[in-house]
Amino acid sequence: MIKLELIVPVQAEQCIALLKRMPKGHPVRPIVEKDLRVWLKGYYGELNVAYHLSFLPEDEYYIFHGLRLKDKKAFQMDLLLVSAKFALIIEVKNISGKLKFKKGSDLMTRELNNLEEGMDNPIQQVKRHHLQFNNWLKYHQFKGIPVERLVVISKTSTIIETTPDNLHIFQTLIYAESLMDKMRELETKYTKPRITKKVLSQLSDTLLKEHHISIPDVLQKYNLSQSDIKPGVQCPNCRSFKMKYISASWRCDECHFTSKRAHLSAIKDYFLILNPTITRKQLAEFLQIEPVKARHLLFSLKFPSSGTKRGTKYYLPKNCILCPLNENDMKKGEFFT
Ligand SMILES: [Zn+2]
Repeated sequence: MIKLELIVPVQAEQCIALLKRMPKGHPVRPIVEKDLRVWLKGYYGELNVAYHLSFLPEDEYYIFHGLRLKDKKAFQMDLLLVSAKFALIIEVKNISGKLKFKKGSDLMTRELNNLEEGMDNPIQQVKRHHLQFNNWLKYHQFKGIPVERLVVISKTSTIIETTPDNLHIFQTLIYAESLMDKMRELETKYTKPRITKKVLSQLSDTLLKEHHISIPDVLQKYNLSQSDIKPGVQCPNCRSFKMKYISASWRCDECHFTSKRAHLSAIKDYFLILNPTITRKQLAEFLQIEPVKARHLLFSLKFPSSGTKRGTKYYLPKNCILCPLNENDMKKGEFFT
């Protein structure tokens, strides 16, 4: 049973919002485009692994995609599977080329088109998550559940290379195609329930309660300022920023398309790029409408808020991204120049 759905990563959503709102020819665009390709590749890798997991018995496993918890530091697991018998943390990698692993190193090397680059070693990464998740379980007083870990390489076209003294990595490093075999192996290892169904359900509720999506500061990351970001509402039909808000509806000056919801995507971009909170005045400026209309829109959105009157700050509900993108939106590839 899927408890936490796989979504397009927030970082990819941020790159898309930036590409939509940064002028063509901006020097930072190629860096954002490159990052977006990496995030999307990771997402497609996870979609592939999710397909393999769909063969698991629904009632035995709780599946969490992208669960982000806090130990001393926050950590995000690509996948967490929990049953009454064991838990399994999975780090998914969708990387082209040849991956070379050295014994005990925090780095792996990726070789592609005769170029070598160092990358974080996912085996070490999942080892850290394993430690952090065990600490988390202890802190929340869930005892007795063994936790396993795996790195899953989503494509068999990725070549993995290591030295003869390091072959034990293949116990925790597998291809997605072998995932179900690995699950059967773990089911043979853990035959008895370690926790009751009731505790399993409590664990699942606590995991969801403690899950927090974070929205990184992209202006700082790419050294951008607010003036690099185009304000306004984009027409969902012709992609121009010439939407006007007239009689509770958005109308495009360019193609005459009308929409009652076109502002949602703009507000989402505001939260993704500019600020975790928004005031009536900020919304009016960003959507380029009168403050009284901004007030009306904010009222209809029912966002949580703090403060009073004109100083009221509104923010997104926990773990909410307005109108999240889905797989079909992604395939258009229209974000790239
Ligand atoms: Zn239009």
